[in-house]
Amino acid sequence: MKSKLAFLLVLLTLVFFMVLLTAGKEQNGLSGDASEAGRASGVARSGESPESQIKGENMKKDEMTANASPHLLPALPYADSALEPVISAHTIGFHYGKHHRAYVDNLNKLVAGTDFAGMSLEKIIGATAGKPDRTAIFNNAAQAWNHAFFWNSLKPLGGGEPPAALKQKIEASFGSLEACRKELLDSALAQFGSGWVWLVADGDKLRVVKTGNADTPIASGLKPLLTIDVWEHAYYLDYQNRRADFVNDVLDKLIHWEFAAANLR
Ligand code: FE
Repeated sequence: MKSKLAFLLVLLTLVFFMVLLTAGKEQNGLSGDASEAGRASGVARSGESPESQIKGENMKKDEMTANASPHLLPALPYADSALEPVISAHTIGFHYGKHHRAYVDNLNKLVAGTDFAGMSLEKIIGATAGKPDRTAIFNNAAQAWNHAFFWNSLKPLGGGEPPAALKQKIEASFGSLEACRKELLDSALAQFGSGWVWLVADGDKLRVVKTGNADTPIASGLKPLLTIDVWEHAYYLDYQNRRADFVNDVLDKLIHWEFAAANLR
């Protein structure tokens, strides 16, 4: 009887340990699945610091963006607040951070999988200008190009006198720097609705031209030297409806004559 009881006790102990072992394996299996799910969703993973997890996720996003976006938003050539008080960091946040970015993002979506994928902005503009069935691609490519050119047309502590070679050209074409300045301002004010005012080289002569909406002089074979964005989004937060005050301040305090002179060459 005693030996039967001892055998039963050993058997029960064995069954107990087997049940424990099976439960343990199932638990391990479940946590393995949870770990995979965590990796896929970026949820915390064991053995990595939160910082390295964030870096890892950012790298993945960057790689995805790079793959899906042949055109990148170019970096601003100065800090967000460097053009204050004429253009506030608040305006830059919307104008560069939202509007310019949207043109680049929209263009990438529009050209994905088309013959335009992989083309430069200039080539896309040339291939779509004046084609009614390509208006959306033209508008976004031209706006991406125009804005990158605009940011470079400005600098902190700009304005003043152009470099000598450019000043000579301006005087030969307009009579004086003041006359050129007046034509830039008058054209900016004469542009009905959204658009741009440009100083361009047209052969040997310099001219001021204005373009509506997304239109750009490079679509007409002209060589832009500098531009001022006169869409309301360029000045409304800082100047409300006072376009003349905005353009005057840009010409006096921000315009980058050295950039214009470099484009002349
Ligand atoms: Fe703009």
